[in-house]
Amino acid sequence: MRTPLIAGNWKMNGSFEDTNVLLASIEDGLERRAEAAEGKARKVDVLVCPPFVYLETAARAIEDSDIALGAQSVSAEKPGAFTGEICSHMLKDLTCSYVIVGHSERRQLYGETDTTVGKKFKAAAEAGLKPILCVGESLEEREAGKAIDVIKRQIDAVMDIACEKCFENAVIAYEPVWAIGTGETATPEQAQEIHAEIRQMIAARSGKIAKKIRILYGGSVKPANAADIFAMEDIDGGLIGGASLKAEDFLAIIDAA
Ligand code: PEP
Repeated sequence: MRTPLIAGNWKMNGSFEDTNVLLASIEDGLERRAEAAEGKARKVDVLVCPPFVYLETAARAIEDSDIALGAQSVSAEKPGAFTGEICSHMLKDLTCSYVIVGHSERRQLYGETDTTVGKKFKAAAEAGLKPILCVGESLEEREAGKAIDVIKRQIDAVMDIACEKCFENAVIAYEPVWAIGTGETATPEQAQEIHAEIRQMIAARSGKIAKKIRILYGGSVKPANAADIFAMEDIDGGLIGGASLKAEDFLAIIDAA
């Protein structure tokens, strides 16, 4: 049985104050829900991924809670002359346990290729971080019937660079590019179809990892659609953008899992 993971990707939003206020509200909400459920609620892993500069503030805010901390990107390099970059061991110093790699905004806006993403994934996993590998097709690719081919290319590239062991603690996030921040969501059936394919792709390399790896759905998940999406067999939680910035919405999405 895979424990669902609800991960908030704050993107480039917030301030020191927002970070403290949002995390205090999430923590408070989680405590109240745990008390109300009297230990009967299903376990859900909760993760927040603030911008780099707020990681330390966030780490302090959640140190007495079960909320995990992650970053939104990482360098593929070891420490050295890489101006402006942040490497895995720095994220570990900040108590991060997860890191998002290959988000479509990084691929589209900052030119990250499948190879760059594979190298980042490998560096993060080898340093002991849990990489969350984002994959997904554009609207054009979906309409051309190429969604599976694109996702297979993205996953194969990482599997060719990183060893099988690197996938042991990894997470995959299926995020159709046309659903990110647009208000459009894949139907639960559309998402399930792709998630099942992704699990098959992993199974082709390792059946053991395919069974245990969590595959999240991301793309305009909201309190209103979360439960139907998370009810699907191969959907193990969500990567949440916009709705992770509102404590009430994020908590409702956690409840839905
Ligand atoms: C994301 O950025 O990973 C994402 C899924 O964003 P949103 O939930 O806002 O669509």
